[in-house]
Amino acid sequence: MINWNDRISPVVKNVPPSGIRKFFDIASEMEDVISLGVGEPDFITPWSIRESCVYGLEQGYTSYTANRGLMELREEICILHKNRFDLDYDPKTNVLVTVGVSEALDIAMRTILCPGDEILIPEPCYVSYKACATLAGGIPVPVAAKAANDFRITPDDLEPHVSPKTKALLIGYPNNPTGAILSKEELEAIARFAIKHDLIVISDEIYGDLTYGGVKHICFAGLPEMKDRTILLNGFSKAYAMTGWRIGYALSNPDIIAAMTKIHQYTMLCAPITAQIAAVEALRHGEKYMRKMVSEYDKRRRLIYDGLQNAGLKCFEPKGAFYIFPDITSTGLTSEEFAEKILIQEHVALVPGNAFGESGEGFVRCSYATSIEQISEALARIEHFVNNL
Ligand code: PLP
Repeated sequence: MINWNDRISPVVKNVPPSGIRKFFDIASEMEDVISLGVGEPDFITPWSIRESCVYGLEQGYTSYTANRGLMELREEICILHKNRFDLDYDPKTNVLVTVGVSEALDIAMRTILCPGDEILIPEPCYVSYKACATLAGGIPVPVAAKAANDFRITPDDLEPHVSPKTKALLIGYPNNPTGAILSKEELEAIARFAIKHDLIVISDEIYGDLTYGGVKHICFAGLPEMKDRTILLNGFSKAYAMTGWRIGYALSNPDIIAAMTKIHQYTMLCAPITAQIAAVEALRHGEKYMRKMVSEYDKRRRLIYDGLQNAGLKCFEPKGAFYIFPDITSTGLTSEEFAEKILIQEHVALVPGNAFGESGEGFVRCSYATSIEQISEALARIEHFVNNL
């Protein structure tokens, strides 16, 4: 019999499984669980977007598309970036439509990282970043963002981690898991840092539409001198409640996009045509639905922010995404202990902060992409848990 364990590449073996799943597996076997664990909208995709897909199927759109994606979709993506950020991208050369931001992240790393190249990754961060860098043959260099600075990364945090092998920096704001965003000045400081060290910047802006309290998202590529240095990633999963459709995109310099397209063409060929048709509809007519969902998230954000503080957990006010990252150190528990105990005792599922990197220890991630009723009940349970420790 084949010993498959011996046949698996050590690179793959050494990538740890996501720390998020463990808790979902326990939660899935329990009843009456309120989940603040998942990073996915609780809305279903707006009807007009779904309908465009149904209509597309009826019309017989069932083929491959161009490797780079439907021209209509690439055009809409460019129009969006022109209108919103005054960025000029050419749909023919600057855009690649991918299977979610997940694929875009993977192929961006595989395109730029040679074996041994280092990429700076501020933490806490989305669970895929380090794994993708490793699988691409690069070396992820985690950089702890400071809790005292509400997890906003600064050049001072990054500077000590730069080496002659540092090739790139990966930023993700609004941030998963903290909900932090960076101001224009803070992003400009990161831009100067990138110029100083001649780094490519991968900017994952998947939560860019989800900002609150009058804050407008700043597109990193729109900062002076950043357009040609940045691989800008975005997608439809979060803002348009389209996680299952699997559409994302990368915007960058034509050479980088051509190189990324090479990997995409051999591994993916193209993103699904039906989902691309739906994405066109989302960009043409979906903004009003998206704004409505954002204003609903905002209500929930304020509720959970106040509620967690009333429960005795300190947290900074998140201004983006749909996560809040309370400090649980006052409970004397580690973040894993907190997540495990509250799941077993109170049936509330959330994610320990250390799943997003060591600097997330002492925190837990709560997603507020769930109903007001569920959040209110979860808050009552959290308060009960904390008071009874
Ligand atoms: N980037 C971040 C920061 C995310 O949180 C996620 C999903 O949770 C992704 C990328 C992947 O998104 P997609 O559904 O577009 O692959």
